[in-house]
Amino acid sequence: MESCGIGYDLHRLVEGRKLMIGGVEVPFDKGSQGHSDGDVLAHALCDALLGAACLGDIGTHFPDTDPKWKDASSLIFLEHIAKMLHDRRLRIVHIDAIVICERPKLGPHFPAMRAALAKALGLTTDKINLKAKTNEGVDAVGRGEAIAANVIATVRQH
Ligand code: MG
Repeated sequence: MESCGIGYDLHRLVEGRKLMIGGVEVPFDKGSQGHSDGDVLAHALCDALLGAACLGDIGTHFPDTDPKWKDASSLIFLEHIAKMLHDRRLRIVHIDAIVICERPKLGPHFPAMRAALAKALGLTTDKINLKAKTNEGVDAVGRGEAIAANVIATVRQH
């Protein structure tokens, strides 16, 4: 049996924070606000995987009220979810994602992000596709005030 899950996330971009995306620090003059490292792509991916496995959402498993997750690397969440899927005999078939921001350019960082995400999930990089979009100057993302991500994940029971 195969199933899909979707994930969405958005973080404000603020000064004085690192910009972590897909487990990689992207050099930029702003970073993601958040309780953990604010990794918008990792968070949307967590929700997509949890959705595909019918296991709820990231906030349930890793509450942002828990001091344990303060400034935590979001790759830890992915490692934890990979184990949850493995325990349920669910294998990740494919991941497709869109990261949306006006700046910086993300394409050059995609190989490192795919490698980091694949390592956290125990996958090969050919199972992870990343795409970058801008919001054409429209709304908070378009004004550079926020970064967003959409992810779809497919899992198969074996
Ligand atoms: Mg988030």
